Amino acid sequence: MNSSLHNIRFTGTQINYFFLCKKKLWYFSHDIQMEQNSDAVYLGKLIHETSYEREKKEIDIDDTIKIDFIGNDRVIHEVKKSDKVEEPHIWQLKYYIWYLKQKGADGITGKINYPKLRKTLDVFLEPEDEEKIQSILKEIQGIINTELPPAVERMKMCRNCSYGDICWV
Ligand code: SF4
Repeated sequence: MNSSLHNIRFTGTQINYFFLCKKKLWYFSHDIQMEQNSDAVYLGKLIHETSYEREKKEIDIDDTIKIDFIGNDRVIHEVKKSDKVEEPHIWQLKYYIWYLKQKGADGITGKINYPKLRKTLDVFLEPEDEEKIQSILKEIQGIINTELPPAVERMKMCRNCSYGDICWV
């Protein structure tokens, strides 16, 4: 195993939250997990269960990354319920490809499946992405090491966030 993987146990959800909201990342990483009650998450699970049923699904690697399914030609797939393509989705998948590369699996590419949009997006790990991922991981470590959640501005997505009740009392 590549030495850069030592001590890295960040999940795809953490990478996703890093881009969405640093406070959400902190709550989630401190085991304050309220997402199970969210309608949006329920919908996401439902889409996972009903989409691409013929494919092999949910491959757990090291209790760290969960690949939705692996298709032909070394392509890993991530299924997103969203009705728009978002940057966090892309970085989550780039992270998975990077993670697998650290474990010696070269030549992996990714595909994000958007059932609601009826489209797919190809994702590749570019050489410059590897440096960015290393710095994201360092930043995540810094955020979750703090005693209190970071201060963030209220934003549009707060309205539908399950942490809203503890963020904005
Ligand atoms: S309510 Fe807003 S600030 Fe709080 S965790 Fe959710 S998205 Fe972040």
